[in-house]
This record gives sequence, structure tokens and C-alpha cells, in this order.
Amino acid sequence: MSIFDHAEFSDHEQVIFANDPVSGLKAIIAIHNSYRGPALGGLHIHSYRNDAQALGEALKSSRGMTYKTALANLPHGGGKAVVIADPRYDKTPSLLEAMGRLIDSLDGRYITAEDQGSDAADMQALARVTPHVVGLRNPAGAGGDPSPYTAWGVFNAMRGAVRHTLGKTELCGLRVAIQGVGHVGARLARYLHEAGARLVLSDVDSHAVNSLARHLDARVVAPKTIFDVEADIFAPCAMGAVLNAEVCRRLQARIVVGAANDQLAEPACAEQLLARGIVYVPDYVANAGGVIEVAWRRRADYDRRQVMAHIAGIESTLETILERAGREGLSPVAIADRLAEERFAEPRGKASV
Ligand code: NAD
Repeated sequence: MSIFDHAEFSDHEQVIFANDPVSGLKAIIAIHNSYRGPALGGLHIHSYRNDAQALGEALKSSRGMTYKTALANLPHGGGKAVVIADPRYDKTPSLLEAMGRLIDSLDGRYITAEDQGSDAADMQALARVTPHVVGLRNPAGAGGDPSPYTAWGVFNAMRGAVRHTLGKTELCGLRVAIQGVGHVGARLARYLHEAGARLVLSDVDSHAVNSLARHLDARVVAPKTIFDVEADIFAPCAMGAVLNAEVCRRLQARIVVGAANDQLAEPACAEQLLARGIVYVPDYVANAGGVIEVAWRRRADYDRRQVMAHIAGIESTLETILERAGREGLSPVAIADRLAEERFAEPRGKASV
């Protein structure tokens, strides 16, 4: 099979393979689409099973970032870098320097950021070689953690979904079941508590979930039973592929909106939820808050209030999507994809950052 026939490869602009025997760097950078601006996407360092797995992730994630940045109205396209290495042992200064040179060789067409297996210290190391890095911590140590912004985006997506689906302008009194109270889920739970929502929480870390539940007057259920909770909203904030055929059959909530990436185990699950009358908010619409904040960091006029307002705009984007989905009888995922694709074709300069 020709490499160009790879299922995910058909519409990528450029894919770079790098091999540096001196440092041991083996890396792939995928640029899916740069019509709206330079491709933005994280650097994942992982001991992949084989090259095909690494390539598959670079292609899939960079494509996903194009959709996410377009729907977030950012002047960026989608990119992704993967380094085939064990982040615990292989992240030597010379490997990071070689990766920095590779990113720099693209002259700003790809901008990197923290992702799984890479951290703030790695970003600092790359920044010594190339300016095309975002999400650096400032000298006081602030910045770098996108999860508060992601949680703010999910909270605003919930508001949009609730207004559209339940006709309510407030979250007060609504029952929200959250799966996973890590960085994003715990912050989201606090926003919801402040808004007067009633919370049901689950996490495999029983200490973390019980302690949060005490503070927020929330109920805790076992991880396996969170899907069966009678709730208005189910918020997946633990891991991907959680919405499989069985879960979609079991879910009791009217709305699904959460932070986890790639929530649908199969594309068909979007149709299954639609058929059951459950409104599924596409994950890449709801969880774009962190990317929006990171994109703002490239601007000299970074202003936190404007960042939060930009993220809050997820609410109106979502309402547009849900309104079109209702009118056309299609799933929100189908409409979100279409809206993003319309935006790839927008003339440059229309995006707001
Ligand atoms: P995290 O690791 O801090 O939190 C995940 C939590 O889920 C942990 O507390 C973990 O114990 C719990 N968990 C794991 N398996 C579980 C299970 N079976 N049932 C219940 N709980 C379980 O991660 P995070 O940064 O909060 O991110 C959560 C999700 O959102 C991930 O899928 C991540 O890819 C996605 N996401 C995060 C961000 C961000 O800004 N952090 C941005 C976009 C997407």
C-alpha cells in the first residue's frame, strides 16, 4: 500500500520524518492544515509500539487540532509532533536540542506545546533552540497548566447545551455526574458548585474524590456506575473512548459534555445518542479552552479577561451547532465538522486572535 493511501493521510499538507543518529531522535511532525495560520499542536513523547502507531497518532491528532482551532476561531491550523522515545529515560539535552532544530527548520509553520510525555522544562529546552514554542511558564512559575481554562470552556459549553436543550439560562439545581475529578474535572466541579448545580462524582482515586465531595457537598458513586446516575448532564473528564455502544445504551443523562479527548469509541455512537434524544457536545468544541489560552500567549497584548471571554464564546459556537443540528436532524458532531470545514475555507484574517 502506498503511504499516501494511509486512511488518515489523504488531506495532510506535510508530514516530516526525522532521524538523528547522534542524539537518537526519531520524530514525526504532521501539519494537517495551515489555511487559517501556523499549525499548532502538542509534542507527545512516547515509546510507541511501532512507527505506524506513532504516525497514526500524529496524523489523527493534527487533523483533530485543525477542527478544534477552527471552531475556537483561532488563527491556527492543526499540527502534532511525536517523538518515539521513553520520556522517563530518553529525554536527553541533545535529543531535545535536535527536536528544537527540527521544529525550527519549519520556520514557524508548526508551533509546539506541552503534551503527554513532555513538560514545561522540555518546552524551555526547546525554546533555547527555536522561538516556535508556546505555553512556557513565566519567571514566577505561573502558566503552563491549561486545565483551569479547559474547565472554564467545558462549563460554558454546558451553559450553551442547557439553554438549547432544557431551555434554562442557569445551571442552578441541575444534576451533573462527573467522571474523573483530576485537573479539569475538579475545577469544573467547583464552577458547577458555585453555580448551584447538584453533583455526583466518581474517580478511581477514592481519596481525591471523597475529599472533593466533602468540600462540594457532592455524592460519590463507584466508577462503574456513573453512567447509570439519573442526571441532567454527564461530564466525561477521565479518559477517551468512554462512550461505547453499551454506555450509550445505559446513559440516563439528557446531555453529554466533558473535557476528555476522543470520547466516542466509534463514530456511530454519535448517531446512537442522537436516536436516544441525548445531546452530545463534540469534545473538541467543549475542551478547546486550554488551546485558546495557549494561542493567546503568542500575543504581546495577552489579557486574561479577554482570554476568559474568548473561551466563554464556546457557549455561542455550541448553540449555533446545536441549532443547526436540530434543524437538519443531524448529530452535533456532523454539524461541528461541517462548520469547521467551512472555516478552513475562510479567507485569512477573519479569526479573532
Ligand atoms: P487528569 O489525569 O488530571 O485527571 C483524570 C482523572 O480521571 C484522574 O483523577 C483519574 O484518577 C481519573 N480516572 C481515571 N480512570 C477513571 C475511571 N475509569 N473512572 C473515573 N475516574 C477515572 O487529567 P485532566 O488533565 O483532568 O484531563 C482529563 C481529560 O480531559 C483527559 O482525557 C484529557 O486528555 C482531556 N483534556 C484535558 C485538557 C487539560 O487542559 N488538562 C485539555 C483537553 C482535554
